[in-house]
Amino acid sequence: AYVIGSSCIDVMDRSCLQECPIDCIYEGARKLYINPVECIDCGACEPVCPEEAIAADRRIAAEQREFVEDNARFFTEA
Ligand code: SF4
Repeated sequence: AYVIGSSCIDVMDRSCLQECPIDCIYEGARKLYINPVECIDCGACEPVCPEEAIAADRRIAAEQREFVEDNARFFTEA
């Protein structure tokens, strides 16, 4: 699945919301979240983010790893 990292926090540009073909990107209080179960790995959201906050979970930068967990948690606690 694709994951949204720290640069989305307090920015929430929302360009990705328009691009996602299955609408699996959701709004939290301070950032957006991709539902890891629903995401089909199409990659459409990644290039449109002006903050470059989005990456596939398997090649996300080490310092952004915690956001893989954070994104999953957002959907299990909702
Ligand atoms: Fe949506 Fe595709 Fe991005 Fe997954 S990779 S969140 S399906 S646009």
